[in-house]
Amino acid sequence: MGFDFVYDTVFAADLTIMEEGTELVHRLKEHLKEDPGHEEPLPMFTSCCPGWIAMMEKSYPDLIPYVSSCKSPQMMMGTVVKTYLAEQKHVAPKDICLVSVMPCVRKQGEADRPWFARDDGARDIDHVITTAELGNLLKERNINLPELNAGEFDNPLADGSGGGVLFGTTGGVMEAALRTAYELVTGKKMERLNFSEIRGMDGIKEAAIKLTPAEGSEIAALMKEHVNCKEGCAPAEGAKAGPITWKGGEAGEDGTITLRVAVANGLGNAKKLITKMQAGEAMYDFVEVMACPAGCVGGGGQPRSTDKQVTQKRQAALYNLDERSTVRRPHENPSIQKLYGDYFGEPGTHKAHEMLHTHYVAGGVENE
Ligand code: SF4
Repeated sequence: MGFDFVYDTVFAADLTIMEEGTELVHRLKEHLKEDPGHEEPLPMFTSCCPGWIAMMEKSYPDLIPYVSSCKSPQMMMGTVVKTYLAEQKHVAPKDICLVSVMPCVRKQGEADRPWFARDDGARDIDHVITTAELGNLLKERNINLPELNAGEFDNPLADGSGGGVLFGTTGGVMEAALRTAYELVTGKKMERLNFSEIRGMDGIKEAAIKLTPAEGSEIAALMKEHVNCKEGCAPAEGAKAGPITWKGGEAGEDGTITLRVAVANGLGNAKKLITKMQAGEAMYDFVEVMACPAGCVGGGGQPRSTDKQVTQKRQAALYNLDERSTVRRPHENPSIQKLYGDYFGEPGTHKAHEMLHTHYVAGGVENE
């Protein structure tokens, strides 16, 4: 079809988890140190779905500080291709044309946000087509995928973990994030990788996960200080009450913390969940929101099917791919480790923040 290289967005999903998991742990530490009333409050909401971001900016602008500042996998991929990859290939970013294939009719609007461009005028993502449009292009050109030999994605942005694959379904971002955040806090590998509580098609799903911070770590020391703070820390002097009260996770007397997570499957369920959280009737530390029912497997850009079970089948296929992956935890992806080693240093560094994080606009981008 005329492309020189084909990369895998699952790679960028893993990168998103590296930054998002690190951001969650950072927010947790900041809260254990001081307030509510901090600029990076808890609970933290995921940020990878532009349908959710659009609703949040328009209907819940007070929640902007609660939303992870991480760019979505699509936009992280755009940044990495136009910087790291451009340098590796010795090509000027403006001479690269990057086309995203997405399940989503909202991803073009996301790519068009004014600040997703470089000083030389190159856009991070040049064009977005949907998976259905890719299917039509293949048909027009008489390309029949089953007749082709299997190929590989191109390096160095080729590998993705099983966790990254799960981004495509409701609950998957949360499941992938927990795999990495668990190890960041405890220093140990998470044994139970499948979170059945947040799988499936229910509208609102929740789970609690007990973390024992690694001995000698900063977070272990903070937890010990915080253990009597089960009702939440006193607000810092002069701190404004936020739209959602965070009650400090569930601190155990043994120095453990129970992370409470929730998944909203579709915008209607997100509204219900936010209403409960604002009323103080539900307490979470980390919340995933995907706009399309079932998540991206049910995205508006996906091929139509007469099979009523198609989203369930797509979801089952993703779980299956995850199970069969040799690397299931995003932070164990060797290509991601190389990218940090070569370019960003560590997750959450100044450089990573500059390039892999973004901001939101109350009222929506068109008012900018
Ligand atoms: Fe796009 Fe829907 Fe996926 Fe959100 S859930 S990223 S709107 S396809």
